[in-house]
Amino acid sequence: MRKQIVAGNWKMNTTPAEGTELAKAVAELSKEVADNVSLIVAPPFTHLCSVAKTLAGTKVALSSQNCADQASGAYTGEVSARMIASLGASYVILGHSERREYYGETSEILNKKMAQAYANDLTPIYCVGEKLNERETGKHFDVVRAQIEEVVYQLAPEQFDRLIIAYEPVWAIGTGKTATADQAQEMHAYIRSVLAEKFGDKAAACPILYGGSCKPSNAKELFAKTDVDGGLIGGASLVAADFIAIAKSF
Ligand code: PEP
Repeated sequence: MRKQIVAGNWKMNTTPAEGTELAKAVAELSKEVADNVSLIVAPPFTHLCSVAKTLAGTKVALSSQNCADQASGAYTGEVSARMIASLGASYVILGHSERREYYGETSEILNKKMAQAYANDLTPIYCVGEKLNERETGKHFDVVRAQIEEVVYQLAPEQFDRLIIAYEPVWAIGTGKTATADQAQEMHAYIRSVLAEKFGDKAAACPILYGGSCKPSNAKELFAKTDVDGGLIGGASLVAADFIAIAKSF
């Protein structure tokens, strides 16, 4: 059976003090979440240290939203995977559409970031997803296939064993417009088939999360689908009760 995972991407929201309060509330409510559901929160870099302390001893794991593509050195403003791991984070979100779109992250850059993540024992949550015009012109499967072939296919099989994928249609992120459960299932099954072409039976064990305006009111229907193993949650992860309600939707 695949892991069920709900991960919260806080993006560039909250001060460190507000983040600590949010993490406390999530940790407290996480006691209501089934043991087989893994919870992850991804605060901004500036909060990792304090949120790690808040989450110590709870079932909520810590992720960063990004990491540098280099190990260390003269890269002003960057934060390395080693620094992130040393603060107690276990995951890193890579390839988020906002990083691809606003910060020009290409597959070449993402391959370097993936290497840094694995070298420092961070599990990548690798995001894929098409833009609205790509879906409307029927290119969505090809776009997602390319995002997988260019990055995930470069992994060694034992690295792939530790990968989480998030399918996030760009047109659904922060728009309030969610993919239907059938659209999500169709793409998740496709992603799993593309993974199986390269990694064979291992693809059946890879968690594939849905992201894009997932909220308490639609999580149940999405998570009921065979290939939807949980969610990567943006806006709704900033409200502890909503985030936990989503995690209770399996
Ligand atoms: C995200 O950006 O990862 C995301 C899913 O955002 P939202 O839930 O706000 O659409």
